[in-house]
Amino acid sequence: MSFQPTLDYARQMDAQDPLRFFRDQYLFPQHQGHNCLYFCGNSLGLQPKQARACIETELQRWQELGVEGHFEGELPWTQYHKALAPASAHIVGAQEDEVIVMNTLSVNLHLLMVSFYRPDAQRFKIIMEAGAFPSDQYAIETQVRWHGYDPAEAIVEVAPRPGEMLLHTEDILATIEQHGSQTALVLFAGLNYYTGQVYDMPAITKAGHAAGAYVGFDLAHAAGNVPLHLHDWGVDFAVWCTYKYINSGPGALGGVFIHTNHGYNKDLPRFAGWWGHNEERRFLMEKGFDPIPGAAGWQLSNAPILAFAPMKASHDLFMQATMPALRAKSEHLTAYLEYLIDLLNAERPRFSIITPRDPEQRGAQLSILTGPEGKALFDYLAKNGVICDWREHNLPGEKEGKAGVIRVAPTPMYNSYEDVWNLVNLFDLFPGVSI
Ligand SMILES: *Cc1c(COP(=O)(O)O)cnc(C)c1O
Repeated sequence: MSFQPTLDYARQMDAQDPLRFFRDQYLFPQHQGHNCLYFCGNSLGLQPKQARACIETELQRWQELGVEGHFEGELPWTQYHKALAPASAHIVGAQEDEVIVMNTLSVNLHLLMVSFYRPDAQRFKIIMEAGAFPSDQYAIETQVRWHGYDPAEAIVEVAPRPGEMLLHTEDILATIEQHGSQTALVLFAGLNYYTGQVYDMPAITKAGHAAGAYVGFDLAHAAGNVPLHLHDWGVDFAVWCTYKYINSGPGALGGVFIHTNHGYNKDLPRFAGWWGHNEERRFLMEKGFDPIPGAAGWQLSNAPILAFAPMKASHDLFMQATMPALRAKSEHLTAYLEYLIDLLNAERPRFSIITPRDPEQRGAQLSILTGPEGKALFDYLAKNGVICDWREHNLPGEKEGKAGVIRVAPTPMYNSYEDVWNLVNLFDLFPGVSI
């Protein structure tokens, strides 16, 4: 890709961007009367302007209809989850009967491990990435203990090679092969939250299945960000949250994928509730759980409509924009950020990008490792209206490090090339001596 480092060029790219109108569908936090430079869509996506109206519609229906809102109107509450299936399916590459929105990510991870982590004396291991998001680590550790196994024996972590930060696919596959006959479950992130690395999900799935294990993915940072084809890849199950790239609001509900290979298997163990029961017979309040075929059969409680509503606003925008178009812009926009940072570094080396250089192995996010003035740079950015993310990362020999990783996610849905240019310009203007 050939880029130019000027503001004019960035503005020209914005003028040609077929998705440029979507920016105006979102509300940006303000800084001194202007939109913030918001690069935190990997943590909490921005509010779609229509979210408020969607919530108000349901408040109004509640006011006017009371309990009848469950059954009356264009979109009765008992049917609302079905309106969320098309976009969920589009985003993760699934059939509509393979997805359901319910609960939140960590809860869903536990619920799906009930179905897909069923260890016995022969197969009890879980293979995962080292340095996984803490909630995933805690969920996996406590599941292992709950089944009476020792996490030190049962959890096999694939770690980067000494001195490196990313995983090699061949190391992941070799670990799966090595522990294969004892492995019950292979459970990886789709995209590592810290490094921004996308794992080779089809290859991991294939290797896990060849070993006779189930394969699941936590797609918190992948859903709405990178291309996913869960059905075609044959992934057994996946979970994700919708407040990151899917812009559905703080603490928004989680998404679940269960492959049709399993979704119609009524004998698969699960923790059940009345909302997963045969829809025609749900209100007969009779004995004997009869699951709805597909992922919907894993629902427990009646659905939180006021939390569904902002997701619907977000989903409408995803269906209009479409994942292929978002991905095309995302690759280009992130490459532009990388290009501008590389130019700065060429003048005077200041940062290293730990996210993979290969666009196929990353999404929107770049994780930028700074030197000891990193925290001062981050504070300078914040003072100048940038919202991004800081994680301390002590350099070797440093006790109380001020070095760290700045994670920035140029989100194709609402970030512009001009945003990216302005961000890197602030990096350049930072008065620190050696970052
Ligand atoms: C964001 C994130 C979570 C958060 O879990 P919640 O249950 O939604 O709080 C879990 N796992 C990963 C990998 C994440 O990135």
